[in-house]
Amino acid sequence: MEKDLEKIGKEKGIKYFLVSWVDMFGMLRSKLVPTRAIKEMQKNGAGFAGFAAYLDLTPAHPDLFGMPDPDSLIQLPWQKEIGWVACDLWMNGKPLEASPRVALKNQLARAENLGYRMKTGVECEFHLINKEGTALADDMDTHAKPCYDQQAVMRQYPIISKIADAMLELEWNPYQNDHEDANGQFEMNWDYDDALKTADRHVFFKYMTRAICESHGIRATFMPKPFMDLTGNGCHAHMSIWDLDGKKNLFSTDGDDPRGLGLSPLAYQFLGGIMESAVDLTAIFNPTVNSFKRINAPRTVSGSTWAPNAVTYGGNNRTHMVRVPDPGRFELRLMDGAVNPYLLQAGMLAAGLDGVENNRDPGDPLDINMYEEGHLAKDARHLPENLLDAIRLLDKNKIMRKALGDEFIDAFVKLKMADWNEFTHHLSTWERQHTLDC
Ligand SMILES: [Mg+2]
Repeated sequence: MEKDLEKIGKEKGIKYFLVSWVDMFGMLRSKLVPTRAIKEMQKNGAGFAGFAAYLDLTPAHPDLFGMPDPDSLIQLPWQKEIGWVACDLWMNGKPLEASPRVALKNQLARAENLGYRMKTGVECEFHLINKEGTALADDMDTHAKPCYDQQAVMRQYPIISKIADAMLELEWNPYQNDHEDANGQFEMNWDYDDALKTADRHVFFKYMTRAICESHGIRATFMPKPFMDLTGNGCHAHMSIWDLDGKKNLFSTDGDDPRGLGLSPLAYQFLGGIMESAVDLTAIFNPTVNSFKRINAPRTVSGSTWAPNAVTYGGNNRTHMVRVPDPGRFELRLMDGAVNPYLLQAGMLAAGLDGVENNRDPGDPLDINMYEEGHLAKDARHLPENLLDAIRLLDKNKIMRKALGDEFIDAFVKLKMADWNEFTHHLSTWERQHTLDC
C-alpha cells in the first residue's frame, strides 16, 4: 500500500478520519471513520448512497465508494485527533465521471500527456455574519470604504489569526490576511501550488473557516452576493503552466512579449482558450441563482463591484475578466464563492488546453477602465444575465462536452436546471409587492 493511513493515523495520534468528498454543488460530504477501520476503507472505499448528494444518481444506483487519497491528508490543527482526507468517487469498479475531483484529475492527466503541469492559487473571499445569516457579525463594521480597514480586521483577530495559525502549521505558506472591499468581508491568501493540491486546500479552507467561526459563535459565508448593496464574494484564480518537473514556468517568456505583458505564446493560447469558453463556463464558475447578482452588478456602497461583466483581458487592471498582474501568470476573476473548488480548476484547464490545441488567440489586451468605458469594448462578449441562460450555454458547448464528457455535462445541466426550476417556482416578496394590486 502507498501511504498507509492506519499507520500514519496511529503515529500522529489521529483517532478519527473525516473521509470526505464534494458533490457537484460543492457540498462537502463526509463520514467520520475510527482509525481502526480506515485500512479497510483505504482498500475498498467508504460506501455512500449517491442519491443523497447532488450527483444525478437515483436511489436504485449501487453504492458509491469514496476512495481516500492519502496524499490529501490534513490533520486538523485545532482538533488533532481528526485527520481529513479527500476522496475520489467510484461506482461499479471505476471512477465516476460526474465526480468533481475525478473530473479535475481527468483534465490533469490530459495536460500531463501534453507535458504540462498546472499550478494555481485561489483567493476565497468571505463574509463574517451572525449565526442566523441576517446581518454582519460585526455591527461596528460600517465604513463606506472599508477595504484594508485595520480597526475592523483587528476586531476579528481571534478568528483570523486562528485560521492563519492553522495554515502556518499545515505549511501552506500563508502570506497575508485583510479586510476586503465590503463591510464584514475578508480574504486570506496562501501560496499557489499544483492544481489538485490547491483544490483540496480550497475545500478544506472553506470547512476550516466555517468550523472556526462556528466555534466563536458566528458564521462565515462564501455566498456570491449575501448583501445587495455590498461587494460580493469572488474566488479569483491565478494560473500558470509548468513543465512536468514543476521547475520551469512555461507561461514565462525569455524573449520579448510583443503585447508587453511578459507572457509566452503558450500562455496566450491558454488565455485564448479561456476567453473562447468563458461565457459558456459561467454555469460552472458562477453556479447559483445568486451568482448573477455579483457579476453584471450595479455599483456597490464602496464604489465598485470588482466583478466582470464581459470577456476582456488587460494588464494589471482589475476591471477586466482576466488580469495579468505579473509576467508568467494570469488571474481569472470570473468565479465566485459558490464555485466548486475542483470544477473551477477543471474548467480553467479544459478551456486552456482547448486554446493550445486550437491555437486560439485572445487578441490584444485592453487598457481601459471596464467599469466606466465598457462600451468601448464593442466586440467583447457579455456574460449571461442569469443561471438559466448560463446553463443553456454550457449544455450546447461542444468544447466542454468533449473535454469533460457527456456524462458529466448532462448530470451538471440536469441538476442545475432542477435548481433553477425550484427557484422560479418560489413566490418572492418582490412579486407580491409588484403584482398583488395589479
Ligand atoms: Mg479579493
